[in-house]
Amino acid sequence: MSQGDISIHHGNLEPLRIYGINHFMQKYGIQFSFNTESKINIVYGDTSQGINGFNIYISKNELGEGICGYLRIEDEKVPLFEKPMRLDESGDNLVVFVDNKGDEYPCVVLNNNSIAVGFDIFNEVGHILTGYLEHFWKMKENKHEKLAKIPMVDYYEKILFDCLLFASRRLNLSLKYKPFWPDGKKFAVCLTHDVDRVHKSYQYITHFVRNIGRGDFRSAMNQITSVARKLHGDEPYWNFDRIMEIERNLGVKSTFFLLNEQKKVCIFSPNGWKLYRGRYDIKDKRIVEVIKKLDAEGWEIGVHGSYNSYRDFDMMKGEKETLEEILGKRVHGISQHYCNLEIPLTWEYHEKLGFSYDASLGFVTDIGFRWGTCHPFHPFNPENGRILSLWELPIIIMDNACAYKSWQDIMEIINTVERYNGLLLLRWHQAVFNEREFPGRSEIYKRIIKECIKRGAWITNAYNIANWLTERERHINTHA
Ligand SMILES: [Zn+2]
Repeated sequence: MSQGDISIHHGNLEPLRIYGINHFMQKYGIQFSFNTESKINIVYGDTSQGINGFNIYISKNELGEGICGYLRIEDEKVPLFEKPMRLDESGDNLVVFVDNKGDEYPCVVLNNNSIAVGFDIFNEVGHILTGYLEHFWKMKENKHEKLAKIPMVDYYEKILFDCLLFASRRLNLSLKYKPFWPDGKKFAVCLTHDVDRVHKSYQYITHFVRNIGRGDFRSAMNQITSVARKLHGDEPYWNFDRIMEIERNLGVKSTFFLLNEQKKVCIFSPNGWKLYRGRYDIKDKRIVEVIKKLDAEGWEIGVHGSYNSYRDFDMMKGEKETLEEILGKRVHGISQHYCNLEIPLTWEYHEKLGFSYDASLGFVTDIGFRWGTCHPFHPFNPENGRILSLWELPIIIMDNACAYKSWQDIMEIINTVERYNGLLLLRWHQAVFNEREFPGRSEIYKRIIKECIKRGAWITNAYNIANWLTERERHINTHA
């Protein structure tokens, strides 16, 4: 199939819709031409002129209030934030829409040499990838736990991709698109660790008190033996060697994000304690040694932005430079402490500082798809209309959240990421790899990796993911 085989026709478009189009092209690695008649034409919105060829008509709609209903795709129910156009029922119905009152009508209809899509894929994608789902998470209702498990962006775009596949087969063309991952791997796994603290101090007291309060005397006793072990030189939050061993045995290597916290805190505030007492000096001899060791043996080192760095350019710059000085080379990625982000400002800072990726976006106490996708993406800044070159690698499963989730919940997420060829980004804190202190945490980590090895996933560090994606999208021109 040559370059001019697919074209998209549209009138004036808002920046969010253009972003939606670009996202689709970039994600699938498909090149479109614009407003020229081709063998396959995506006709977006009302275009009065007749266009020859196999046409895919996509409606242009506005979003409604919250969830307006569901797309029924095989056995899945995928929410939609608009009411789709009511389509003519004379063709083959591929996807059905059911609104909140139970009204049911076709939403994707196949005719002889055209397909009609009744919902506005590009508008939905543009909104969701700029944070449209955030207000649902703030509502903290139980039903949103279900919503968090559905990467709707990936569902919507897969529908368009399937339409293009169908059209190409009809016309005996072979659709040119890029494989998502190297060597035809179905999905990828990205392993990451935040290094928040390396010494246990005040936690002896807080954990002891918490355990006693819960009536968990065995764990309380563990805290006492742990103090004794620490006095003999066994530092419970120093787990670098444990992690390296676990990963070596599994044949994988991860990314460690190192914190450089300088914040002055009030020691009378419990939150201040959290930030203050666990911290370490990044220039401390033992830390410098372990950073160099990890790097020399093939692990990636990145910046774990300090508590206030997400909105302080100079602070972030200083932290990056200090780490690069220690390392003697460039660092490529950052994750923000506490997932602190001021979107899009923080991402603009990250890009300006030359980071190629950010990995701070995810749920802290839930698992799943905060941004409605299991794929890395280029963020869009609605304030200046710019698509950033920075990659956002969304966090999908965080260690803390696993305490509230069953293995079944985790398997469901893995299934979805595999099915939609996405990226399963794991975030496991350095400190939790001590089984005595955090029972079960490292076991789940190992179990997830083993499961993904069994399924043939590409398992690697964050830089390798970002680098692969950047190479992959070369030669795909985006639509300005
Ligand atoms: Zn942190």
